[in-house]
Amino acid sequence: MAEHSEFMVRFWGVRGSIACPGESHRRYGGNTSCLEVRCGEHLLVFDAGTGLRLLGDHLGGPKALSGDLFLTHTHLDHIVGLPFFGPLYNPDTRFRLWAGHLQPELTLHEALSQFMIAPLFPVPPEIFAGNISFHDFVAGETLEPQPGVTLRTAPLNHPNNATGYRIDFDDRSVCYITDTEHVIDQPDQNILGLIEGADILIYDSNFTDEEFPDYLTWGHSTWQEGVRLAERAGINRLVIFHHDPSHDDAFMDQVARDAEETRPGTLVAREGMVLSP
Ligand SMILES: [Zn+2]
Ligand SMILES: [Zn+2]
Repeated sequence: MAEHSEFMVRFWGVRGSIACPGESHRRYGGNTSCLEVRCGEHLLVFDAGTGLRLLGDHLGGPKALSGDLFLTHTHLDHIVGLPFFGPLYNPDTRFRLWAGHLQPELTLHEALSQFMIAPLFPVPPEIFAGNISFHDFVAGETLEPQPGVTLRTAPLNHPNNATGYRIDFDDRSVCYITDTEHVIDQPDQNILGLIEGADILIYDSNFTDEEFPDYLTWGHSTWQEGVRLAERAGINRLVIFHHDPSHDDAFMDQVARDAEETRPGTLVAREGMVLSP
């Protein structure tokens, strides 16, 4: 049997919109979007929500590090952890930050400079001591951030745009699709084209189908739409992600039961959960 390289995903933040710590959200977690992906020796981070601070602590705080950080988009819940990611303050750190939803209007550096600016935030991105570079692409492009790691991307249906990612490594694949709104009875062809046959699909399930009609234009989808996409695209494992802050542990337990009944093996993302494709 062939030896496989390590390929794993760890969830550091699974929540949408705003962090929601508290006793009623303890088991699934209150931090906003952040994934750690390991492709062999390569570190890839997806989104810089409040979960990113915990990842930085886990990696040794201000220790030097090299890696790539890919943003789905720059809404606050996906970037607010960036200034609190300890490794960026080590002069020996080499990190590349990537975004595919801003061009041609803005660069990623410009967008982040509009967030890390007084009086909203005391210091600009130039405070990062490490070798930090900013990379703009256009969703739809294919990237190869490291040898053997292929990142296909697609535009998502979200206010101010967002990018969906498919990571292919060592003959396996993980898709990270958040934040996106579906159209009822019209499966998103951009997403289907990206996720076809993937091992793991992590999907924006902010709402349930029952809630969805009340939140049109908010830019989010449902776990039931995730199931429909997973069935069409032949996905091995669906992961429900970007939980609404109003959905407490008891609510998420019910989602987990309903999803298990609808598509056995479906998982609800929790902070600390580790998966390998
Ligand atoms: Zn979000
Ligand atoms: Zn968003």
